[in-house]
Amino acid sequence: MPSDKDGTMVILSSPSGAGKTTLVNLLSNHDNYEISISHTTRKPRDGEIPDKDYYFVDDKEFKRLINNQEFLEYAKVFDNYYGTTRTPIIDNLNKGKNVLFDIDWQGADQIKNKKLDYRLITFFILPPSKKILFDRLSNRDMKDKLIAEERMQQFERDVLHWINYDYVVINDDLDKCYLKIKKLINAEISDGSKDYDLDYIRKHVEKLTS
Ligand code: ADP
Ligand code: 5GP
Repeated sequence: MPSDKDGTMVILSSPSGAGKTTLVNLLSNHDNYEISISHTTRKPRDGEIPDKDYYFVDDKEFKRLINNQEFLEYAKVFDNYYGTTRTPIIDNLNKGKNVLFDIDWQGADQIKNKKLDYRLITFFILPPSKKILFDRLSNRDMKDKLIAEERMQQFERDVLHWINYDYVVINDDLDKCYLKIKKLINAEISDGSKDYDLDYIRKHVEKLTS
């Protein structure tokens, strides 16, 4: 049984560009939330800050961390490695901090399967439409249109994982989406009632994939 004194693990996953990094940053504005900073072998994007957005490392360092068994989870995503080191997560949870993870479905599965003795809530974020997703990806990765196209191709495969998450939330209006997630987290932690319509989500997924 997770202790009420310990923090909660909150995972946000989504097809690339749906907005999970933006949402994690908004949620982290609350005192008792810490973002899990991942390691990655990907190169920094314009504006990304090393050791804040990611620990940017080379393949050799990533392999060293794997061999030292420092990762709680790691996965290969779009030709690069991404991983979450265990120690900072456990330290924060033991201090009563809620830890926010912006990780893909492979990492979410690994953490779920570990069955750690901390409360875990998983969210899958969806875009309002494929057109809007493409626009967001194109705006973000302006220098490289290929990245947006490559990530759109992956969309169909990524979206199928929605079914394995506790909650699926559509990121249309950013503030509304953020508030919805915050309310669901608070309801889970305090065992309150949850405003969640699974049928609506199912229909939205059908629209996105048809
Ligand atoms: P992800 O982490 O899921 O790949 P990001 O958080 O990087 O996605 O968001 C992709 C892009 O879309 C960013 O440029 C971000 O500013 C923008 N964005 C995120 N949410 C919204 C929203 N609700 N409305 C408009 N733009 C958004
Ligand atoms: P990006 O390159 O856009 O920052 O991230 C690409 C994908 O990698 C996203 O789905 C993101 O959630 C995922 N990701 C980021 N960090 C980690 C991590 O530590 N572990 C796993 N499994 N996925 C991660």
